[in-house]
Amino acid sequence: MQVYRSVRSLAKKVSEIKKRNKTIGLVPTMGFLHEGHASLVRKAKKDTDCVIVSIFVNPAQFGPKEDFKKYPRDLKRDLDICKKEDADIIFVPEAKDMYPDDYSTHVSVEGITEKLCGASRPGHFRGVTTVVTKLFNIAMPDIAYFGQKDAQQAIVIKKMAEDLNMDVDIKVMPIVREKDGLAMSSRNVYLSSSERVQAASLYKALRLAKRLFDQGEKNSGKIISKMKEVIGKEPDAKIDYIFIVDIKELKAIKKISGMALAAVAARVGNTRLIDNIILRQRPRIGRF
Ligand code: AMP
Repeated sequence: MQVYRSVRSLAKKVSEIKKRNKTIGLVPTMGFLHEGHASLVRKAKKDTDCVIVSIFVNPAQFGPKEDFKKYPRDLKRDLDICKKEDADIIFVPEAKDMYPDDYSTHVSVEGITEKLCGASRPGHFRGVTTVVTKLFNIAMPDIAYFGQKDAQQAIVIKKMAEDLNMDVDIKVMPIVREKDGLAMSSRNVYLSSSERVQAASLYKALRLAKRLFDQGEKNSGKIISKMKEVIGKEPDAKIDYIFIVDIKELKAIKKISGMALAAVAARVGNTRLIDNIILRQRPRIGRF
């Protein structure tokens, strides 16, 4: 495993890999890695010859009042995890290298970035699409791996890659969860022990949504109000949004037919958590 700390050194390495006709898998992360990230690396190892994991807490995707400064960081531990997963290359750039003082170019996807998390985090997705574009240009991956945990992010990146004719496959992998269902997240370390227990209510609400849907409830409004009851029981949880949307345009759906995404964002104490679940009509087997 090799660690690259500058854009220039990684770009040089990538051109060597390309000359040897090896395929590259890229796993972009902000570090403080957990089993969710590891699952992406494992999949990339299966699919591609050379796996690059980037670790970069991207200042451009944090709002001025957000947690950029206190975002958890532990490079030594991250490198141990990457080594265990047999990642080939770790890219740990400096912010100044990614965004020099005279930096002035941004990539921005319109429409879908204004919904869900985009409404409460203005500028967030512009920061994400800009850094991901830069990472794609530097690492030149054949396949890039993202988690369904950040479903809107994955949808935005797919749209960007399609709109800008980027020559990369985007793969979206399932959400890895703790035993009680809480989606793994680097931000979970912010939670106090009581908040940690309450945080499981997001997944409880999503499970309830799925159960109601599977039992035949197709009215989003009814499902959402039941979900609100579940999270509302927790004294330190404050819902930011609950939406049931289509998975392409992220438009709210009133009556679900086919497939939909139930997405939730809530603050538990001071920590903003997000989670989601796909609601999908099971194909009927046989005639009845
Ligand atoms: P982050 O470091 O939080 O920016 O996440 C880096 C990548 O890992 C993103 O594509 C996330 O969607 C993905 N990811 C984060 N948490 C999970 C999880 N619990 N399960 C699967 N993927 C995840």
